[in-house]
Amino acid sequence: MGGTFDPVHHGHLVAAAEVASEFGLDEVVFVPTGLPWQKSQRAVSSAEHRYLMTVIATASNPRFTVSRVDVDRRGPTYTIDTLRDLHAERPESELLFITGADALAAILTWKDAAELFSLAHFVGVTRPGHELSMEGLPTDRVSLLEVPALAISSTDCRERAATGRPPWYLVPDGVVQYIAKHRLYRAGTAPGDAPD
Ligand code: ATP
Ligand code: MG
Repeated sequence: MGGTFDPVHHGHLVAAAEVASEFGLDEVVFVPTGLPWQKSQRAVSSAEHRYLMTVIATASNPRFTVSRVDVDRRGPTYTIDTLRDLHAERPESELLFITGADALAAILTWKDAAELFSLAHFVGVTRPGHELSMEGLPTDRVSLLEVPALAISSTDCRERAATGRPPWYLVPDGVVQYIAKHRLYRAGTAPGDAPD
């Protein structure tokens, strides 16, 4: 499951758990992006902060792991590179790429779209406020799954933190505490600051 995870929240975790149970997955690998090219218009927290929050959020689930492939690769993050790296690491594994409906809708605009579908099966999960459309997508390589609706977004979590309202219960407790400890999303905090 790829994402910016700035911060990771319960919408991500519920979606991952639902897909894992529905598709009988052995493992869900969370892959925080390095430089998300679609989000260059806003300041994104450092990859190290986003990676560590994802580790904290997933630590208690034996089937959840976090990969550094995108964090450690230089340059903008493209899903094609993510899938190539994960495939090289686990050549025997069948890969499913879990993504939200909003991202799936844009998939055909991604770099090397045809090769994406040869490397992984794509699972689009429903997300409140986003319609799922299969138009133009290869139906044998893409599945849609309705997950319990959680109207949580990282944007909302950041806005709360920015105005001094910790995002309790929207993100795991350890992530609320990590955000407070490092003063993430607060006015006057440089978003690129690495953790102490
Ligand atoms: P932002 O508000 O900064 O865009 P976000 O909440 O969309 O953040 P991302 O890191 O961009 O979080 O999301 C990673 C993936 O998880 C995307 O494919 C997105 O569609 C999906 N996703 C995010 N929130 C939810 C949710 N509440 N339910 C289902 N899927 C979600
Ligand atoms: Mg998003």
